[in-house]
Amino acid sequence: MRPPMCFICLRTPDDEASFSSFETIRFALTPQEEAASRERDREGWVGHPSEVEWFCHEHSALARKHSHLHWREAMELLAQQRRQPGEAR
Ligand SMILES: [Zn+2]
Repeated sequence: MRPPMCFICLRTPDDEASFSSFETIRFALTPQEEAASRERDREGWVGHPSEVEWFCHEHSALARKHSHLHWREAMELLAQQRRQPGEAR
């Protein structure tokens, strides 16, 4: 796993307390990706899967609302949340 950094606000934990407020959200996979993921688990792979991202406590609820989406789609939508209010979409 990568160290915690919120996918949306790019914040990182700066002490023990905020570390525990970060959580990983897992997004949906295609059936092919599911199979590949199960295969990796069987082999004891310990990398950071692309369908998993870190979120701070402010953004984990929003991320969870998107967790039923395929990770590519979810991350595209969540990345749009990085824009400042008022910025043209
Ligand atoms: Zn955040």
